[in-house]
Amino acid sequence: MSSTSQDNGIQQDQIEGNQQEQSVIIHPQRRNGGILNSSWARGSLLAAGLAVILSPITWIWFAASPVDPTDYAERTRRVLSTTPLIDGHNDLPWQLRIELHNRIYDGRVDLTKQLLGHTDIKRMRQGQVGGQFWSVYVDCDTQQKHFEDPSWVVRDTLEQIDVTPRFISEHPEHLQYCDTAACVRKAFRAGRIASMIGIEGGHQVGGSIATIRQMYELGARYITMTHNCDNSFGTSASTVAAGGEDGGLYNLGHDAIREMNRLGMMVDLSHVSHQFMRDALSIARAPVIFSHSGAYSVEPHLRHVPDDVLRSVKKNGGIVMAVFVNRFLNMKNPDLATIHDVVDHVFRIAEVCGWECVGLGSDFSGTPYVPIGLEDVSKFPALIELIMERGATDEQIRLIAGENLLRVWGEIEHRAKEIQATGEKPSEEEYAERHWHKGLKNSPWMLRESREKAIVNGAAENPHMFNVGRDGKHNPAVKQV
Ligand SMILES: [Zn+2]
Repeated sequence: MSSTSQDNGIQQDQIEGNQQEQSVIIHPQRRNGGILNSSWARGSLLAAGLAVILSPITWIWFAASPVDPTDYAERTRRVLSTTPLIDGHNDLPWQLRIELHNRIYDGRVDLTKQLLGHTDIKRMRQGQVGGQFWSVYVDCDTQQKHFEDPSWVVRDTLEQIDVTPRFISEHPEHLQYCDTAACVRKAFRAGRIASMIGIEGGHQVGGSIATIRQMYELGARYITMTHNCDNSFGTSASTVAAGGEDGGLYNLGHDAIREMNRLGMMVDLSHVSHQFMRDALSIARAPVIFSHSGAYSVEPHLRHVPDDVLRSVKKNGGIVMAVFVNRFLNMKNPDLATIHDVVDHVFRIAEVCGWECVGLGSDFSGTPYVPIGLEDVSKFPALIELIMERGATDEQIRLIAGENLLRVWGEIEHRAKEIQATGEKPSEEEYAERHWHKGLKNSPWMLRESREKAIVNGAAENPHMFNVGRDGKHNPAVKQV
């Protein structure tokens, strides 16, 4: 999800101020015509061919039936038949919410038929998609004065977590709900698209670590630590793009990441500020992910990952899943963004962080504008073919298609088991300004100190079980006992 407001706020001076940091796009000539027109391209084809021939997996394929190394379509088909292509971010559940109010049983939509927009099962099959993280996004509450004030956000997130497995289970021949990396492989072997839940914004847990635990119990397997607004965990990229200060990771964000590592919930650093990324990587006890981001040195949009962070991700063992959003790919002329821009990001991430770092995170159905050549979920193979044309081997393609994500997820699961084995308790840290319920004067206090404190500070004068809000007004919906 990338609402329009997030991306238009970037300052021109920031763009220009970062020009000198821009690295050269690895193979810009690819944008200007046929790949066979340059000597580099011919050399790269030869290299690709040799790499394919030397790959042991390819030898197995050769043994089965030879494949022309320049037959990118056939190589892609073979690779994606044996390795699940896992996309990091698709916002179809948001469409179910806004168009259907999550009523999916009345026959208004059939996901197996071609729909408008970017996503349906028919085109996912054409696109050889093997696994999908479905985003359970809801907006930030602009009326919320304090990050942890009660609002509808957690309720609406629960509704999205409810509708996602419901639509998955409506299509058992095509989709399989998964909450483990092992399940993804199993689903893929069974010919189904593994379907996982990711939460796109730390605001969606209401500033509460206990809520993170419950979201995990409900099947969510990543949380994007911010969306386009700051929250109790830290600063978002959009705030910095709009000229705000980069406060990085806040105390509760630190505690949240530690708890997510203990749980085995993936920490997603797409959308967070650059300082947040650095702070998070300095304390992470497991690999991190970027579910839909690119390389800042290719296009200086603050949603992308700067080179120093890419190098930290390499050490951390995490993954950056290349995003397909036009405004991030071509800031000056978004309408001119093409599939080749995504290939540029893939190669740059690979150059700085290694092929073990790269994945794919489309943002299909979450952004209105996607690149020429990557119009919908059926176009993943076209992207893979182009990455092959640029010289990637079948083994490198396997990594970026799905093996990297599965390795990272498996490692996160493993680290969680290790941390839990140490006896580390669930975190009880809270937001610094958190308000809690108060008791009555005659509450059946457990502790003498509670009763004395209630008498001394006058809290027992409050006739409500729930505390008064910060504005001093009583909540009219209080529970009376
Ligand atoms: Zn997003």
